[in-house]
Amino acid sequence: MTSRIPIVAGNWKMYKIRSEAADLVNGILPAVSKNNYCEVVVCPPFTALQTVANIVKGTKLGLGAQNCHFEDSGAFTGEVSPLMLKDIGCKYVIIGHSERRTKFGETDESINKKLKALYKHQLLPILCCGETLEERESKRLYEVVERQIRGGLADIPSEKMPTTVIAYEPVWAIGTGRTATPEQAQDMHAFIRKILADMFDKSTADNIRIQYGGSVNAGNVKQLMAQPDIDGALVGGASLEPEKFIPLIQFKD
Ligand code: PEP
Repeated sequence: MTSRIPIVAGNWKMYKIRSEAADLVNGILPAVSKNNYCEVVVCPPFTALQTVANIVKGTKLGLGAQNCHFEDSGAFTGEVSPLMLKDIGCKYVIIGHSERRTKFGETDESINKKLKALYKHQLLPILCCGETLEERESKRLYEVVERQIRGGLADIPSEKMPTTVIAYEPVWAIGTGRTATPEQAQDMHAFIRKILADMFDKSTADNIRIQYGGSVNAGNVKQLMAQPDIDGALVGGASLEPEKFIPLIQFKD
């Protein structure tokens, strides 16, 4: 029997200047403090990380970034390193979001390098995977997700896995208002856990948290979170307002 603590993370994408970020985080903090059954993380844009870090310090709300480079420092104009994120107080980093894969050319190989760089600094990755609509309709969904998981986690020692979070985010559900049904999501989460058991071992796989992401909202969160292999949510649009985000961390109330 495993007891995976669900994790709900807000991916703010390229939204919120510092004053707006402060308002948002102050708006959700009281609900986070009262919440005892899930871990809550916010991932602001780089420019608001310090502002949010100052506010969440000493609270139960975790801080994450949305991306990073795999080197600690160097001539990489425009990039931010894991060392810098650690320095600012980040705990998590989202890696391989579908927007990074499709709009910024990230590959399983670069994603794998980023994961290894995070472990070096005791930062915890949220590794994203998920198929496009075309891949689902042509029944290649399992093959695509398996490639992303095996590629992203290549040569990662099993000791690192308990601190790794996977986010299954079907691309066709991100920002579209179209959510995977609880059955579709559960089916893929169970498949991912099977791959993890094959790559590592069953007990390691049983302890890894797998979030669902893709148009999660107050209307669908309870049913999704009730699935046995769904351990939280990665949330985009609904993480940008306290009124929309708070119900997502209260899915058991
Ligand atoms: C995301 O960007 O990771 C996401 C799931 O977005 P949304 O909740 O808006 O679909």
